[in-house]
Amino acid sequence: MTIPTIEVMDDGMRVGEYVPGNGIRYTAVAMPWVVEKHMGALGHVEDGWLVVYGNKATAHLFQATGYLADRYIAEKLKVDERDFPWAGDLIRALVDRDETIITITCAWCGRDMGTKPGHGTEGISHGICAACKEAEVGS
Ligand SMILES: [Zn+2]
Repeated sequence: MTIPTIEVMDDGMRVGEYVPGNGIRYTAVAMPWVVEKHMGALGHVEDGWLVVYGNKATAHLFQATGYLADRYIAEKLKVDERDFPWAGDLIRALVDRDETIITITCAWCGRDMGTKPGHGTEGISHGICAACKEAEVGS
């Protein structure tokens, strides 16, 4: 499973890239925003991030706290419908806001199978691991 890769520069700027496997490479850049200032259509924040979504060359000021939902991100950065929820995953990872994680465990043996983004929900999701699948199919 791929996750967004975030590179943090010396000046605090972050460069994010996400290749989730749907044939699209998502990119975005975030800069810390600490000045209280109106930025027209970009919005108004005192503490947050200026995010530039590379795939659409759009930008928005996001507050530093609170959950960032896919729909909100998509509306502000003009994300295409086909890019759900990948663009949201990238933006949340970029500004450290992907707080919700779903843990995947094997329903047969309980083995840890990793995590996936929760998109606002968290908890445990069940799957079947390779070993148990082989045992089930093979018997
Ligand atoms: Zn198993």
